[in-house]
Amino acid sequence: MIKKLLIANRGEIACRVIRTAKRLGIETVAVYSEADRDALHVYMADEAVAIGPAAAAQSYLVMDKIIQAAKDTGADAIHPGYGFLSENAAFAKALKKAGIIFVGPNPKAIEAMGDKIESKKLAADAKVSTVPGYLGVIETPEEAVKIADDIGYPVMIKASAGGGGKGMRIAYSSDEVAEGFASSQSEAKSSFGDDRVFIEKFIEEPRHIEIQVLGDKHGNVIHLGERECSIQRRNQKVLEEAPSPFLDEKTRAAMGAEAVALAKAVDYDSAGTVEFIVDKDKNFYFLEMNTRLQVEHPVTEFVTGLDLVEQMLKVASGEKLGLKQKDVTLTGSAIESRIYAEDPVRNFLPSTGRLVRFRPPALGTEDGITTRLDTGVEEGGEISVYYDPMIAKLITYAPTRIEAIDAMGRALDAFAIDGFRHNIPFLAVLMRNERWRSGDISTKFIAEEFPDGFTPPVPEGRIRDVLAAVSASIDHLSNNRRRMITQQMHGEPVCFSDVRQVELGDGDLVRVKVEGRDYPLRATLGEEESGEPVRTIQLNSSWWFGEPVFEGTVDGEPVAVQVRSILNGVHLTYQGVEVPVRVFTEREANYLALMPVKEKPDMSKFLLCPMPGLVVSLAVKEGQEVSAGETLCVVEAMKMENVLKSEVDGVVSKIHAEPGDSLNVDAVILEFE
Ligand code: ADP
Ligand code: ADP
Ligand code: MG
Repeated sequence: MIKKLLIANRGEIACRVIRTAKRLGIETVAVYSEADRDALHVYMADEAVAIGPAAAAQSYLVMDKIIQAAKDTGADAIHPGYGFLSENAAFAKALKKAGIIFVGPNPKAIEAMGDKIESKKLAADAKVSTVPGYLGVIETPEEAVKIADDIGYPVMIKASAGGGGKGMRIAYSSDEVAEGFASSQSEAKSSFGDDRVFIEKFIEEPRHIEIQVLGDKHGNVIHLGERECSIQRRNQKVLEEAPSPFLDEKTRAAMGAEAVALAKAVDYDSAGTVEFIVDKDKNFYFLEMNTRLQVEHPVTEFVTGLDLVEQMLKVASGEKLGLKQKDVTLTGSAIESRIYAEDPVRNFLPSTGRLVRFRPPALGTEDGITTRLDTGVEEGGEISVYYDPMIAKLITYAPTRIEAIDAMGRALDAFAIDGFRHNIPFLAVLMRNERWRSGDISTKFIAEEFPDGFTPPVPEGRIRDVLAAVSASIDHLSNNRRRMITQQMHGEPVCFSDVRQVELGDGDLVRVKVEGRDYPLRATLGEEESGEPVRTIQLNSSWWFGEPVFEGTVDGEPVAVQVRSILNGVHLTYQGVEVPVRVFTEREANYLALMPVKEKPDMSKFLLCPMPGLVVSLAVKEGQEVSAGETLCVVEAMKMENVLKSEVDGVVSKIHAEPGDSLNVDAVILEFE
């Protein structure tokens, strides 16, 4: 068995691998770049080795440095995590040569599956159903059009060396094929240094369903059922679940058998994933195989009860798989939410900053429901521009899908993160989306449900009542608390009243009367005299001042509302709604009406940098006339190029930045006249 394991990765996956190694009594070695000196994975490991500057190309991607670190610390094995060197056959070969165990498949399997054309051919030979298409390299646009005509429209043009959704084009006609062929080819060339492209049928409204496989060095391969990952944004997975709400036992067994056949064809000897797309009629087609541990592996761990990292470590050290296909059973339902440092309101632009607050929800098992958090960050840490914006994964596991979704909704409500923007509000709204809850989904789900991007919900209806009641009850307790100091006489209330006027960000006031000395409290909303309907809400909680989350019940239903003190009130977050709530006495509310309204400064004449990043290029010059929609500037952050476009017609009067500049958020890039 492996004695000392080096983890050639960072973030949540490095921490996750270390956790299992520790449980198995294996010593651990972390590697870290300068930017990660204080990162969680460095503290978790028994030893840590610095491997160079922040840029991955100079640290986490440099094979020699990582192999040297393993030699220096006496590590006998390396786990690559995902990304970085995980699917690099040369790395696996170099380790073999150095006498170090690679915790992953053999280099031949990595090579064979790394190329989309080659892997499709292999799949076809292994009798795996592939997307109908042409299994060869296409040289000219004319040839592309002829092939597309034969396949039938729509078609998808793909880069053979592709990954991360790059180099893909959809074409609905021969004109679009000619155009898409050229642009796919040039994107493939610039992204992967390889311009080979191929064409396949574009499956409409498909689901993305993948099969987890597990093999050993003795020719045994089994599958661990499926994960559905249809909730994607720009081909990036957002939610994953196991099992899929769409598959029946027969389709699952058929997909599993094909995945195993493909894995056997390349002597697969580790954990891996065979991705399929599945159409409305449950026809399934092989997409590609990922020869590594997948981001979303925890949902499979829950429903199968297996630790995939443990399985990988065992087979890597030469052990036989301890279980047979018939031993694998799927129990319950697991959902994973990827938590990204990105601003859902600003078109999901990456966001960076200090983790001023990072308070996860209650983890572990309660009432048959388990909540798990895989993270690589902690309060006080930093989200830098250098790496992936995915900072954590929240997973819930319950007997049924709907219970797992409800548990996820509550866990997201109770997850307090501050200091940068993140997608928890978006995820919290998703958990209440009826279509997602019904399981009627496809890879177009987010595009169809949020055609204009994500608009944060405003407090309305029941949510508005809950927030008004919670904020008024907090103010009520605060009033009582301020009046009482131990062993002092109770002071006269300065302006004590049971009735409050609550303003929820839009200027309108809600009348709330709170009764009781401590929770449970009764809040009565609205006023009969003014013709408003009167609603009564029972609140119960053990919340006390300073706690970031108000957890308790509203009319018996469990709720978690995030609470942050602000002037004259509290900032509340609940089910994706984020709102500053001001709480006034009736008298204050009367005076409020007389206050002047502060005007916001007019910033429409400035182009501000939407996130900290590096200016890649400027598309305009001083004095130039631009129209709305025209590209002004490209800023790179977190491995993504973000194109900033003009929102107005106008003339550029002054430029404040130049290519190569590192800008902070809201730095002025240029001004209009
Ligand atoms: P999946 O595992 O389902 O294919 P993705 O493709 O979205 O999920 O995630 C894998 C990708 O994550 C890698 O290809 C890489 O771009 C990125 N990545 C690599 N290393 C890390 C890391 N340490 N932390 C977070 N993301 C990483
Ligand atoms: P990558 O290597 O970038 O992950 P994939 O081939 O796995 O590329 O495809 C990524 C995503 O693109 C899939 O999850 C699916 O949503 C979509 N996709 C790929 N091929 C097709 C196709 N032929 N028809 C419809 N959608 C497709
Ligand atoms: Mg893929």
